[in-house]
Amino acid sequence: MTRNLSLLTPSGRLTLGNLLGALRPMATQAARPARAARAARAAQDPGAECFFGISDLHALTTAHDPALLRGRVTEMSLLLLAVGLREATLFHQSAVPQHRELSYLLECVAHTGELNRMIQFKEKGRGRDGTRASLYTYPVLMAADILLYRAEEVPVGDDQRQHVELARDLAIRFNRSYGEVFTVPRAVHPPAGARVMDLGDPSRKMSKSAGDDHAGTIFLLDSAEVCRAKIARAVTDSETGPDAVRRDPAKPGVTNLIEILTACGGSASGLRGYGDLKEAVTEAVVATLDPIQRRYRELAADPAAVDAVYAAGAARCRQVTAPVLAAAEAAIGLG
Ligand code: AMP
Repeated sequence: MTRNLSLLTPSGRLTLGNLLGALRPMATQAARPARAARAARAAQDPGAECFFGISDLHALTTAHDPALLRGRVTEMSLLLLAVGLREATLFHQSAVPQHRELSYLLECVAHTGELNRMIQFKEKGRGRDGTRASLYTYPVLMAADILLYRAEEVPVGDDQRQHVELARDLAIRFNRSYGEVFTVPRAVHPPAGARVMDLGDPSRKMSKSAGDDHAGTIFLLDSAEVCRAKIARAVTDSETGPDAVRRDPAKPGVTNLIEILTACGGSASGLRGYGDLKEAVTEAVVATLDPIQRRYRELAADPAAVDAVYAAGAARCRQVTAPVLAAAEAAIGLG
């Protein structure tokens, strides 16, 4: 059976970039296997299954506030449902203890040399006071996330390539040393979703980690007024005239606004200036976020139903991952 796995870290609140670049393609992916599975049921073909998780454990690698983390996980749990991922198996990583358990076994296979080379640790941790040990070891937890599901293909952006390489190396080393337990995964590039840049600094990706009050980031729960104010302040340039509204590498701010407009179902043709463009972007963004926010409020009114979805998802994950963990334990000489 094919398995698709994606994890989102609650290191901030979900943004328009997350929606257009990741959540929308994920919703399409989740709907497709469900349809295929229904069609193939008669043929005894279980089809593909999408596992989409909130990687709360990965949010603990740098200084954090427990109450803030819990709030972000709750918000993200609701938003994944609100954007249409109901057909996937949704779960919280910490509710599937196999992730932590396999991570330790893989730490016993990983070498310090390869962890020393991991970019996040090199850039954000090495040699700094107070660096958490988990910032050093989390790539191993990521390898466990992947290997537990025996996923053959892992859809990732370039920034995640190194993590999939490590998962491959650990799988190959484990299999050679202790017997064939893991499927060796391969990184694949999903068809590119829209890439949304920061409204205030269009040379940087719009990021959920830039801070909850960052004016260059549109969050999925921003009100229409907040969206309007943020878009009004978006960086453009000083060009005027009928041709100013165009995609052009030399005009990253304007290009970004046009990309957002298009991805949200609007069109830039016929717009005559940056005022018009910003107005059109605001309308398109608000129209995109409005149904998500309505659905979010409905779901928030019934937390028990949401908890039940995630509890069922975690139970399904435990069912799928327990045999893989048990095989790894047996192979390495435990139990
Ligand atoms: P992150 O928020 O960086 O943890 O990324 C979670 C997912 O959202 C990944 O699939 C990213 O590629 C995607 N993503 C994050 N920010 C953006 C953005 N500004 N534009 C497009 N996709 C994004």
